[in-house]
Amino acid sequence: MDEVVVLARSFSRASSLPRDILEEAGFIVNFKKDPEPENEEVVAELIGNASAVIVGVDKVGEKVFTRCPHLKVVSKHGVGVDNVDLDAARKHSIVIANAPGTNSESVADMAFALLLALARRIPYFIEQVKQKVWSSSGFAVELEEKVLGVIGFGRIGRGIATRAQGFGMKVVFYDPLVSEERVFNKVSLEELFRSADFVSLHAPLVGETRNMVNREMLSLMKKDAYLINTARGELIDEKALYTFLKKEKIAGAALDVFTEEPPFDNPLLTLPNVIATPHVAAHTREANSKMGTIAARNIVNVLQGKEPIYRVV
Ligand code: NAD
Repeated sequence: MDEVVVLARSFSRASSLPRDILEEAGFIVNFKKDPEPENEEVVAELIGNASAVIVGVDKVGEKVFTRCPHLKVVSKHGVGVDNVDLDAARKHSIVIANAPGTNSESVADMAFALLLALARRIPYFIEQVKQKVWSSSGFAVELEEKVLGVIGFGRIGRGIATRAQGFGMKVVFYDPLVSEERVFNKVSLEELFRSADFVSLHAPLVGETRNMVNREMLSLMKKDAYLINTARGELIDEKALYTFLKKEKIAGAALDVFTEEPPFDNPLLTLPNVIATPHVAAHTREANSKMGTIAARNIVNVLQGKEPIYRVV
């Protein structure tokens, strides 16, 4: 009987359906805690002789593929597959599947919630009231007519754009793979950083996007502009961002993702103009259920000799 190892921490948490799909297909499902998702040797040991694995941020590459001879499919419990070595997967003929679109509404909600939290200084005021300080010091900003710059105009990028429209914001976007379109204005990356009051990142982590928010781009931003990152920490040169925030050359940042997680030693967390959440943008009941269902169906299909619903490799 085929074994499926589950390393993704939140798989089938909101509903039993994803797990049921695997069990009803006749697979043994083994939930394992991965203490070191960055360490391929540990990941390989946990996968062992399984035919399929459901991964979260667990690193999967050459070492895993050579040490796990029965592995046929890696199913990502989410969208971003930057933790998987796709070339190594091709070499070893391992199928890589993911679950695009299943968490886009949740992440778009979160990105917009963070935008509102920054604009209205909500975390600051909550903390003040809890400290028994009843003061309205400092002004918030309203969103009407403000410019939202969206980097990466895919599912989530479009999701935050439509939410912003509802608040009367002007939206510009940068995406080298999306052509001009009717409703939203496509601009250059430089123009986006120059014009935006809020910049929100929604590009995948690939060669060109690593550190795309660097000193040069940050220096184009307005002094009262904010940055929101619910994509991947590596999109930002965190040292440069720290300097710009510390010197108040930009107004603030909301970060759900970091280059190293948890980011407890990250100096960005010491800044009063930074708000942070623990990589939970996709963490809703609905997204969890949809993601898990697709992740499970991808595996069932591959192990039954069919195409996964969403194949990456
Ligand atoms: P998507 O594939 O629908 O959209 C990504 C867009 O980025 C595409 O339109 C693509 O053309 C564009 N892009 C590619 N290269 C680019 C570049 N160099 N510059 C600008 N844009 C570029 O993906 P999505 O579902 O919208 O997700 C986007 C990213 O969000 C994922 O790759 C993932 O890393 C991240 N994410 C984070 C969480 C979280 O929990 N915080 C959850 C889901 C997704």
